[in-house]
Amino acid sequence: MTSAPTFSDEEVERYARHLVLRELGGPGQQRLKAARVLLVGAGGLGCVAAPLLAAAGVGVVGLVDPDVVSLSNLQRQTLYRTQDVGRLKVDCARERLGEINACVQVEAHAIALTPQIADEIVTGYDLVLDGTDDFATRFAVNAAAYSAGIVLVSGAIERWTGQVGVFAAGLTRDRPPGQRQACYRCLTPDIPPDAETCARVGVVGALAGVIGAMMALEAVKLIADVGEPLVGRLLIYDALSAETRTVRVPPDPACAVCGTRVSAS
Ligand SMILES: [Zn+2]
Repeated sequence: MTSAPTFSDEEVERYARHLVLRELGGPGQQRLKAARVLLVGAGGLGCVAAPLLAAAGVGVVGLVDPDVVSLSNLQRQTLYRTQDVGRLKVDCARERLGEINACVQVEAHAIALTPQIADEIVTGYDLVLDGTDDFATRFAVNAAAYSAGIVLVSGAIERWTGQVGVFAAGLTRDRPPGQRQACYRCLTPDIPPDAETCARVGVVGALAGVIGAMMALEAVKLIADVGEPLVGRLLIYDALSAETRTVRVPPDPACAVCGTRVSAS
C-alpha cells in the first residue's frame, strides 16, 4: 500500500469547502485523491458526473465512450460545446476535466464497453459509474463490477423520470447469503420488452443534471465512507410531479450474475 496522499497549498485552498466538512475533512479528501473511478458513458449523465468528480479531487477518472459529439447531444450533454460536434466525446471531456482540475488524471477509453473487454477495462478501478442508455452495456458493466469486486453506481433517465441506485454485490460477494447486496441484474433480470431509448422517446435535459449529480454525490459518499449510500435501494425521481420515492432492491438468489441458488445447492 502507498502512503496517504498529501496536499499542496493550492490543493488545500481548492478543496477548502470539503476540508471544513466534518464528514469529509482531510481524511475524506485523501480518499478522494487516492480513488480511481471509472465512468461508463460520456453522455448526459457522464457530462454532469465527470466534472463534479474532477472538481471534487478524485485522483483518477476513467471515461469510456465510443461516440462523437452530435448536435442533438448539446441539449443535455453540457460538457460539450457547439464546435465540439464531430469530435470524440472522451477527447473533449478529457480537455474540459483538465481545465477544471489539472490535479486529476483522466484515462480516456474511446471504445464500446462490450462483455468481451469489460473485465479488462474495469479492472484496476475502485468504483464504477454507469450512465449508459442501453441494457446490453449496463449488463456488461454490472457483470464486470461484480467480478472485479467493486461497487456500481447506476443512473438512468428517460422522458421526465430518472433513477439512481448503488449495487454492492461485488463488494459483498464473499459474505454469507444473508449479508449480500443486490447487483443491477437482481433489479433488471432481462432486457425489458418495452425498452426505449432517449432518441425515440425524448428526455428533458435538466434531468441529466439531477441524476448525474446524484451519481457523483453517491460516489463521493462511497469513496469517503460517509453517510448512507443508496446501497440496496433505488431512488426514483419523477420530475413532472417533483416527487421522489425510494424502493428496496434485495439480492435475487436466482440472479444470473450474483445468484446463490445454484452454488448453494
Ligand atoms: Zn444479482
